[in-house]
This record gives sequence, structure tokens and C-alpha cells, in this order.
Amino acid sequence: MRVLFAAPSKGWDNWAPHLRAACPEMELLQDGEPGSFDALIYAPGYPESGEPLDFTPFTRARLVQSLWAGVERIVGNPTLTQPLCRMVDPGLQAGMVEYCLGWTMRAHLGMDGYAQDGVWRNPIVPPLAPERRVTVLGTGALGGAVARALKAMGFDVAGWSASGRAVEGMEVLPGADLHAALARAEILVSLLPDTPGTRDLLDAGTLALLPSGATIINPGRGTLIVEDDLLAALDRGQVGMAVLDVFRTEPLPPEHPFWAHPRVVVTPHIAADTRPSTAAPIVAENLRRAMDGRPLLHLVDRARGY
Ligand code: NAP
Repeated sequence: MRVLFAAPSKGWDNWAPHLRAACPEMELLQDGEPGSFDALIYAPGYPESGEPLDFTPFTRARLVQSLWAGVERIVGNPTLTQPLCRMVDPGLQAGMVEYCLGWTMRAHLGMDGYAQDGVWRNPIVPPLAPERRVTVLGTGALGGAVARALKAMGFDVAGWSASGRAVEGMEVLPGADLHAALARAEILVSLLPDTPGTRDLLDAGTLALLPSGATIINPGRGTLIVEDDLLAALDRGQVGMAVLDVFRTEPLPPEHPFWAHPRVVVTPHIAADTRPSTAAPIVAENLRRAMDGRPLLHLVDRARGY
């Protein structure tokens, strides 16, 4: 089986040994005649010219396997007719759980309130986790794992997703109940993909539904949030803190007001990475399924965009 590594070349040394070990029967190449490839392993940033990839000449390809969970940069490519699968990887899930738990705990414990300025501030007993309401927007592979971990820590967690499909005994509110999901969210974590249905979801109107002083943690996608509306909500105190890993423009420009805002934490799209050691076996499994004509794992629904 001939497979094109259609990902930025800086990832080659990291990925190639793991992919070859997981799938020794594969001939993995960085270049070649498009019509000769049985599958593509894809990541944004390919081709490095910045042009959108033209999938038309890959006439034999039975699978385009994304190394990323988010597929918004490729799902709308009109030349892509081959099946597209997104990445669901235990390492990615574990990384995202750690990121979200860390920032949730910082917000929950009010750690930013303890300035090292000689003032002894102990006016309130902070609530324990069961008294803290957390809402997770998007309860798929990543949001579901985060919601379960927060629940295991004792937080009062509810999810929200298009379908409202339950996650292991946890309430998941359906799409129509967005207002209820936001109204309870002292801490709001978003792991929604970038689709037409999620773009600009958090604007002045929906931000106003949050409890006063709520924390927003967004490692999903930057298009979720109308940035000026978030800045206004922060300045009013409606939002107490925003931890943002993803942005409409990445890298976030140096002059962007988020950088200097005292209650915004900017992390540079590092919440969770796909780890070759854990993801390569998943890629191998899907390559074998594609070659055998068996159902593919984590097939993207083009109409929904995720
Ligand atoms: P996933 O398994 O496809 O889950 C997506 C979730 O979002 C599902 O629960 C889905 O609802 C829900 N959803 C989608 N559109 C919706 C809408 N319009 N209204 C309500 N709910 C909606 O995706 P995943 O693997 O968890 O990944 C989620 C996102 O995380 C990725 O798309 C990517 O943008 C982001 N991500 C970020 C990083 C980082 O480092 N910052 C790393 C990896 C991924 P249903 O369950 O009802 O379908």
C-alpha cells in the first residue's frame, strides 16, 4: 500500500518511524505520482506553498486520514471526494483533559486572587467542586473525555451538544437548550468544532446569559467567539476570566488586545497535540480498513462539517 504523508515536512522525522512501525506493510512517502497512492495522511499546512491541496489527481486513494481532530480547513475543499477521517487519539484526549482540568482548577480555586502584595485576603471559603457548575459545550471525543474527568473530580457538570446524546450518566443538553447550558455555566469549557453552526455562537447576547463573573475556557476553535463582544463582557465583569487557546487569526497578532488584557490568558494553540506514539496505531487501523473495504473509524460527516 502506497501512502502519501501529506503533512508539513517538519513533522516527518517525528511521525515516519511510528507510522512505519505501526503499519510495516505500508510504503510511506513524502512525494510521488498522485495517481499511485492508496491513501493520504493529511495535516493542515500541506502543501507548504499555502495553496489548497487539489485531491483530484489522487484517483486511487481510498482514505484521507487527518492527523488533526479539527477538519475545518479541509472538509469544505471541493476537490475532496475521497472519504475523510478525523483524528481520535488517546494521547490527544489525555492532553486535552489535563489542559482543561488545570485551567478549571485555577478558576475554581480563584488562584489569580492571591496577589503577592503583602495583603492577607481570606474573606471567603471557596466552594468545593460539587458546588461549582461547569458546562462543557461539545461532548464528542474530547469534550466527552473532559466532562467525564471533571465529573470524576466532583464538579457539577452538564454537557451541551447538537444531539444531546448522554455521556455516561451525565446530563447533556440538546442544541435547543443552549440558554440553559450557558445560564448554569460558572465555568464554561468549549470543545466545539468550527462549523457554520458553531461560528459566532458566543456573542453579546449569549455571553449575557452566563452567570456574572463566569470563566470561559476555549480550546475548541476561535470562531466560536465574537472577540469584541468577549472584550466588552470582560470589561463589564460579566465574564471574569477567559482562557483562550484558539483564535480567529493564528498566530494571534502581537497588537491584539487579548495579549494585554489582565483577565485573558492566551495559550498558543497548545492545548493538546496528536501524539505519534498513540495515534500511529489508529492511522494503521484505518489504512487497513480502507484497503480491506471495511467501515472506517471516525469518518467525517461532510454535511455537518465534523
Ligand atoms: P467530535 O468528537 O466531532 O465532537 C464534536 C462535538 O461538538 C459533538 O459533541 C457534537 O455534537 C458537538 N457539536 C458540533 N456542532 C455542534 C453544534 N452546532 N451545536 C451543538 N453541538 C455541536 O470532536 P472532538 O474530537 O471532540 O474535537 C472537538 C474540537 O476540538 C475539534 O474540532 C477541534 O476544533 C478542537 N481541538 C483543539 C485542539 C487544541 O489543541 N486546541 C486539539 C484538538 C482538537 P454531537 O455529539 O451531537 O454530534
